[in-house]
Amino acid sequence: MPRIHIATDGVRNVSKRKHFSAFIPALLALLTGLIVTSAWFASSRHLEHEKIDASFKQNAAIHLQTFQNELDNAIMALRAINQLFVVNPSLSREQFLVFTRPLLERYPYILNFDFHRIVSHAERPAFEAEIRKRYPNFAIMEAGEQGRITAGSRPRYRVVDYIEPMQGNEAVFGFDADSQDGQTAAMQRSVDSGQPTATGLYRLLQEKSNQRGFLVLMPLYRPNANLHDVAARRRALIGDTAVAFRAGDLLRQILSKTQLLNAPDISISVYANATPDEKHLAFSKGNKVSKDISANEGVLPHWLFYNQPETVAMQLEVAGNPWQMTVSAAPEPFYRANNNALYALIMSTLLSILAAAYVYALSSRSRRIQLLVNLRTAELQLSNQKLNDDIEARKQTEHRLQILESAVQSSANAIFITSASAPDYAIEFVNPAFERMTGYTAADVIGRNLRFLFRDDQHQNGVKNIQEAVRSRREGHAVMRNYRKDGTLFWVETYFAPVKDEAGQVHHFVVSSHDITANKRYQAELEFQAGHDVLTGLANRNLLDDCLSQAIAHGTRHTHPVWVVSIDLDRFKFVNDTLGHKAGDMLLQAIGHRLQMAVQESDTVARLSADQFVLVLQEHGDDHLTLATMQHIMSAVAQPLSIQGHNFQQKCSIGIAIYPTDGDTPEILRKHADIAMYRAKESGRNNIQFFAASMNAQALERLRLEDDLRNALEHDEFLLHYQPQVDLCSGHIVGMEALIRWQHPSLGMIPPDRFIKLAEETGLIVPIGAWVMRTACAQNRAWQLAGLGYLRVAVNLSAIQFAQQDIVKSVASVLEQSGLAAQYLEIELTESLVMTDVEQAIGILRELKGLGVQLSIDDFGTGYSSLSYLKRFPIDVLKIDQSFVRDITVDPDDAAIVVSIISLAHSLRMHVIAEGVETAAQLAYLQRNHCDQMQGYYFSRPVPANEFELILRQNKSLPTEDA
Ligand code: C2E
Ligand code: CA
Ligand code: CA
Repeated sequence: MPRIHIATDGVRNVSKRKHFSAFIPALLALLTGLIVTSAWFASSRHLEHEKIDASFKQNAAIHLQTFQNELDNAIMALRAINQLFVVNPSLSREQFLVFTRPLLERYPYILNFDFHRIVSHAERPAFEAEIRKRYPNFAIMEAGEQGRITAGSRPRYRVVDYIEPMQGNEAVFGFDADSQDGQTAAMQRSVDSGQPTATGLYRLLQEKSNQRGFLVLMPLYRPNANLHDVAARRRALIGDTAVAFRAGDLLRQILSKTQLLNAPDISISVYANATPDEKHLAFSKGNKVSKDISANEGVLPHWLFYNQPETVAMQLEVAGNPWQMTVSAAPEPFYRANNNALYALIMSTLLSILAAAYVYALSSRSRRIQLLVNLRTAELQLSNQKLNDDIEARKQTEHRLQILESAVQSSANAIFITSASAPDYAIEFVNPAFERMTGYTAADVIGRNLRFLFRDDQHQNGVKNIQEAVRSRREGHAVMRNYRKDGTLFWVETYFAPVKDEAGQVHHFVVSSHDITANKRYQAELEFQAGHDVLTGLANRNLLDDCLSQAIAHGTRHTHPVWVVSIDLDRFKFVNDTLGHKAGDMLLQAIGHRLQMAVQESDTVARLSADQFVLVLQEHGDDHLTLATMQHIMSAVAQPLSIQGHNFQQKCSIGIAIYPTDGDTPEILRKHADIAMYRAKESGRNNIQFFAASMNAQALERLRLEDDLRNALEHDEFLLHYQPQVDLCSGHIVGMEALIRWQHPSLGMIPPDRFIKLAEETGLIVPIGAWVMRTACAQNRAWQLAGLGYLRVAVNLSAIQFAQQDIVKSVASVLEQSGLAAQYLEIELTESLVMTDVEQAIGILRELKGLGVQLSIDDFGTGYSSLSYLKRFPIDVLKIDQSFVRDITVDPDDAAIVVSIISLAHSLRMHVIAEGVETAAQLAYLQRNHCDQMQGYYFSRPVPANEFELILRQNKSLPTEDA
C-alpha cells in the first residue's frame, strides 16, 4: 500500500487589506442588520468552502489510488511473467507471446513486456545463430551515435530476447539493454534486492516522439541458486523480465478513467521524483495554478470571494521509486456563480427597509445551504466508508492468509509442498506435523525428492498412483507405507493436489498425509479375528478353507500330496463336565499349542468346533508325510498334562484324507477326513484311520510291525548274516560284514530295509544295534578261538546309536565282554552321520579310535563328504557304494569316480573296499585299479553263521592276478 501524504498549501492565507469608507450615518440603523447579514453570509460561505475543499481532496486521493492500483496491477503482471520463467526456465517465445497477449489487452497503457537474457561473449555466436534461424539478420545491437549498430565485444550482454508486442518495438529486439544508461542503476538495485524496480524517466529506444518512458525490471536467477546475500544474487543472475511504459500515455489512460482529466479548471502534474521539478515531469495537464490572487486583496479572507483555489501534493511509490502527483484547481471568483447574492448584499445597504426581508431571505438561503452541506457531507462520509471497507476487505484477506498459515503450521496432518519441476519435484516446505510424523527435520528434507520416505519399498501401488498424478499434473490419493528417519514403518493416507497460477500452469504440489497406522493395525486385528478362533488363536473354518485351497494349488504345482487331518479329542466332554468349562478351555488351548508345535510352520492348524481340530499338512522337500508324522502328532497330544491340579493324558482319534487321491476340493477333503476320523473313533479311539482303505492296510502293517518289533528282541527273532570281504591281492577272506535279519513268526524273513527305518523312528534301533554289536563280536571271537583265523567283523552303526551319549562306553564294554581284540572290530558309519555335527563327530571318532577299533565310511560317494573334511576324520577304510560298482563297466563317469576315490583314499592312507561286486568284469576293473578289497555276490551273498563257517573251513578264495 502506498502511503498518501496530503499537504494543503497556504493559498487561503494570502489576503490584502481593503479600504472601506463610511456611508451616511442615517443608515446606521440598518448597519446592525447589515452586520448580522454579513455574519450569516460569512459563516455559510465558510461551510460551503469547507465542503468543496474536502470533496476536492477526496477526489484527488481517489485518483491517486486509481493510478497506484493500476500501476500495481501492471507490476503484478510483471511478477507473474517473472514467476513463469522461474517455474519454466526454458519458456519458449510462443509461450511468452501466449502469456503476455491477454495482459497487454487488459492493460493497454503497457508499451511492452520483455525478457532480457544474459549472454556471455562466449555464448554470443551460438545465441545469435539460434535466433537467426527465425530472424535471419539478427545480431546483438547497441546504441551508436547514429542509432542502432551491431554491438561491440563485451564480456556479457543483457539482450532483449523476447518482446511483446513485437510490432512497434522492433527497434528494441536484440538490443543490449546495458549499452544504454537508462536502466543500469535500476537494474543493479533490482538484482541486489530481488524486487521489481523502476528506472527513471528517459527516452526509450523505440520512441519516435519526444515522450519519455520508464521500465520496471525484475531479476531472474538461476533455478535453485542460493540467494542468501547480494553477492550470491549477482552471481546467480541469468536475465530479467521487464515491463515498459510511456509515462505520458500511461497517466493519460489511467486518469481518463476519472473525470478529473475532463475538468477544465483542474491541472495535474506527475513527477518521477519525490519533489516536483521539471526534469522529472512525467505528465502534466492544464495550466499550473498561480497562487497569487491579485484581484482579491484586502482584509477579508480569500475564501470569501473565491471557490476552492487549492493544490494537493501526494506521494506515491512506483516499484521502489518515490513519485509525486500534484493536483490543483484554479480559483473561481465567487460572484461568477453568486452575483445575485452580491447584488442583494449591496441592495440591503441601500434599501434598509428591506433589511428584515433581506435578513429573512438570507437566513432561509443559509438554511438551504446548510441542508445541502449536510447532504454532501453525508455523501462524502459514504464514499469514505467505502474506502474504509476496501481497506477492511484487504485486511481480512491478509487475516485469512494468516489463519491459513497457522492452520497449516498447527495441522495434525503432515503437509508439505513440492516444486512441480521434473525430475526432482523438490520439497520446498514441510510443516511441524511432518517433522513429528517422519522424524525428519525440515532441513533434512528441503530440496529432496519425497521418495526417501519409501526407502526400498518403492514398488507400492500407492507410490505408482502418486507418480502418475504428478506426471499428469492432477490430483491424487493413495495409501502407502512410509518409513521414518529411524527406519520404522508407518502407514499414511496421502492426498496430492497441483497448485496452479492464474494462467493454469501447475507450479507446485501440495501434499497432505494422515497417519493411519493405528487404523491399519486395528484392521489387521479385525482380519485376524475374522480368520481365527478366539480361544486358541488357531485358524477358524474360513481361514482353513483358504489355506486348504492354497495348499491344494501348491500341491498341484509341485506334485506333492496334501494331507487333511481331522483330529477329535477322546472323551473331552468328560473333562468339560467334571472339571468345568474353564478347565476345558485351558485343555483346548494347551492341545492347540501342542498341535502347532508338532507341525511345520507353513502347515495349518485349525479348530472347527469344541474339540475338533483340523490340520493341513504339506510335504517339504524330501520330508515325506508318513504314518510316523501322524504318530508324532498323536503322541505330542498325549503327553501328560496338568490342569487345575489334575493330571491326565489326552488321547485323540485321527482321520486322514489325502489330496489328490481322496478328493480335490477343500469340502470333499474335509468331509473324507471326518469320515476317516469317525471310523477311528469307532474302532476304539486313540487310533489313526486313512480315508483310503489301501493306506489303512499299509498303516496297519507298519503299526503291526512296530508292535512286533518291540517284542522281537525279547522273542529272539533277530539273527545275523555275514558277508565275506576278500583281499584283492591275496584273494583270501580278511573279514566280514554283519547284516541283520528278522525272522518274523508269521511274515517270514524280513530284510533290514523294511524295519531299520522303523526301528530308528521308534528308537528301538538302540537296543537292537547293541544286540548286533554283541552278537557279531561274540561270533568273531568264537571263530578265532575255533582256529578259523583272525578276521575283522564290520558292524553297521545307525546315526541314532552314534548320537547316544554312551556309545564309546558301550562299544568298549562289548569288546571287553566278548574278549575280542579291538582291532578285529570295524564300525561302519555313513557320510551323513559324521557330517551333521562335524566337530562333535570328530571327538567321538577319536575316542572310538582310542579304543583301537577300525572305522569305515559306508556308501562312500553318495553323500557330500569333501576331501578337506575327510582328512580330519580318523578313518581307516572307504567303502565305495554299490551304485558306482554296478555301472563301473558301462558308465565311464562312474569308472572314473571309482579310480579317483581309490587314489584319494590311498593318498590319505586309507584302504578301499568295493561293495556290491557281482561280475568278473567289475572285479577285474577294481583289481586293475588297485582297489584293496571287495565284497559282493560275485564271491558270496551274506550267509547265516553256520554257512559262513563252512566257507572259512573250505578256505574259499578269489583267483588273483598272479594266479
Ligand atoms: P549296507 O550297509 O550298504 O549293506 C550292504 C547291503 O548290500 C546288504 O543288504 C547286502 O546284502 C547287499 N549286498 C551285498 N553284496 C551285494 C551285491 O553284490 N549285489 C547287491 N545287489 N547287493 C549286495 P542288506 O543286508 O539288505 O542290508 C541293507 C542295509 O540295511 C545295509 O546296507 C545297512 O544299511 C542296513 N543294515 C543291515 N544290517 C544292519 C545292522 O545291523 N544295523 C544297522 N544299523 N543297519 C543295518
Ligand atoms: Ca554296511
Ligand atoms: Ca553299503
